[in-house]
Amino acid sequence: MSKIRGGCLCGAVRYSTEAEPLLTAVCHCKNCQRQSGTAFSVVVAVPKGSLVFEGREPGNYRDTGESGLPVDRRFCTTCGSPIISQPAAMPMMDVIKAGTLDDTSWLQPQINVWCDSAQPWVPLSDAIPRIPRNPPAG
Ligand SMILES: [Zn+2]
Ligand SMILES: [Zn+2]
Repeated sequence: MSKIRGGCLCGAVRYSTEAEPLLTAVCHCKNCQRQSGTAFSVVVAVPKGSLVFEGREPGNYRDTGESGLPVDRRFCTTCGSPIISQPAAMPMMDVIKAGTLDDTSWLQPQINVWCDSAQPWVPLSDAIPRIPRNPPAG
């Protein structure tokens, strides 16, 4: 069974992939704070197009990233759970909201991004890189 399998709160949207994760990050950007309703998003990037969806087709809100390029933020149209983001600035990746994974036991964030807008009471590990805004391209 693949390690990456998950779904929304109500179960209408389910996804899985056989691909290995490319990157696990914590994003403190204001838009992730707004969309998630909390202090940050934990995200797992997988190769673009590797996710298989079952059940309901996720809805889409087309956000605009700092790059000026669109960020498609896909969510369950029944329960509102954010599921994935598809930033045009990172065309090789689909970015899963890691809180929707069935099994999060293996998650280990490798970088904190958008630390400029991190909430001041969120402890940021010294063990992994902290970058002020977007990760370097690539
Ligand atoms: Zn749902
Ligand atoms: Zn973000």
